[in-house]
Amino acid sequence: MNSWASVAIPPLGEGLELPPLQLMDTARASITPFPEKSLYRIYVCGITPYDATHLGHAATYLTFDLINRYLRARGAEVRFVQNITDIDDPLLERAIRDNVDWRQLAQSQIDLFRGDMVNLHILPPDHYIGVVEAMDLVTKSISILAERATTYTVDKDLYFSVRADSQFGTRSHYSEEKMLEIFAERGGDPSRSGKQDPLDALLWLGHREGEPSWESPHGDGRPGWHIECCAIALHYLEPDSTSVTSIDIQGGGSDLIFPHHEMSAAQAKILQGREFASHYVHSGMIGLDGVKMSKSLGNLVFVSKLVEAGINPMSIRWALMESHYSTDRSWSDELLQDSIAWIDRLRRALSMMEVAPTAPVIRNIASALSNNLDTPAALSELKKWIIASENQSDGGEAGELSRAIDAILGLAI
Ligand code: ZN
Repeated sequence: MNSWASVAIPPLGEGLELPPLQLMDTARASITPFPEKSLYRIYVCGITPYDATHLGHAATYLTFDLINRYLRARGAEVRFVQNITDIDDPLLERAIRDNVDWRQLAQSQIDLFRGDMVNLHILPPDHYIGVVEAMDLVTKSISILAERATTYTVDKDLYFSVRADSQFGTRSHYSEEKMLEIFAERGGDPSRSGKQDPLDALLWLGHREGEPSWESPHGDGRPGWHIECCAIALHYLEPDSTSVTSIDIQGGGSDLIFPHHEMSAAQAKILQGREFASHYVHSGMIGLDGVKMSKSLGNLVFVSKLVEAGINPMSIRWALMESHYSTDRSWSDELLQDSIAWIDRLRRALSMMEVAPTAPVIRNIASALSNNLDTPAALSELKKWIIASENQSDGGEAGELSRAIDAILGLAI
């Protein structure tokens, strides 16, 4: 599938040294230095295209966009891959509910998502891959797991023995009880009889009447969720066989920590014989006025609706950066209105003849981002500069700051 339109990154000023990145890793449960390399491999789980793009999605892709931008600004190459789960139970359920073809529903939501990403100034992935187009890769990966005696069948369905990975559970750190609880909530089937372990993951679902299916060495059917991402990441990121881990970051929202990322990582570990990712990075959930935003509550706020209402997408970007990516946070109209006002003041300040000194604020923004993407601190530096410029401070160069905040914060003013 084609990625969305490329986004230009302006060059940073000469002589600006960005500090090394420190990043929270869910597996280590601490903020740790991100290894210094010339090439990074990042995989971020994409959407299931039936409800795009709400602010929770936007917050997640913004987080990884900031990492992508920061590493590039330090001069590294970033290989970035994202999937689209364009065949899955929720998509089929929604298509039946709305009486539309599941392919048409997926295509319409993918188009909407791509438009939203362009509006939000999110750098496109190098490879943007739908599961349907990656079916061969997925079935081949399942065959390798089967050859390594880590699979078994229940009726016509194929399962992965999660305990085949001795590290299973060490990326998410949930108790057995919690894993079972979350697994049942997030598409798992812990109580199915015939499974060897309640947490074992579905690899291939045998054909069900009325559902789409694909031919494979495992029978007609369709893949489980976790193996899709694992297969796509390991193929398109072209792991370096000499590295300790296959890739540098496996990323997504915190609702993917378990089971999705734990199980993808376990399968990748069997496929490659080494840890999947150096860092497992997760962004928090977005609520609305203090209540969790969710499909079931019907309180999703969509990027496309805000843009349709005339909101500048840069105001949405600013609002999402007002709080830290790793925390669960709340969206409100007040936050949006404040952000609109700051973007207006920023635009006015950047167009003034004389502006406050810009080199220190750029350094401080870079320093804040290097500290586990501390965007609230970065925006606070920018606000201080706006206020100083409004108060006739001078000595800065507006163009230099404008290019820097476009490059590393993605704020195209
Ligand atoms: Zn995924």
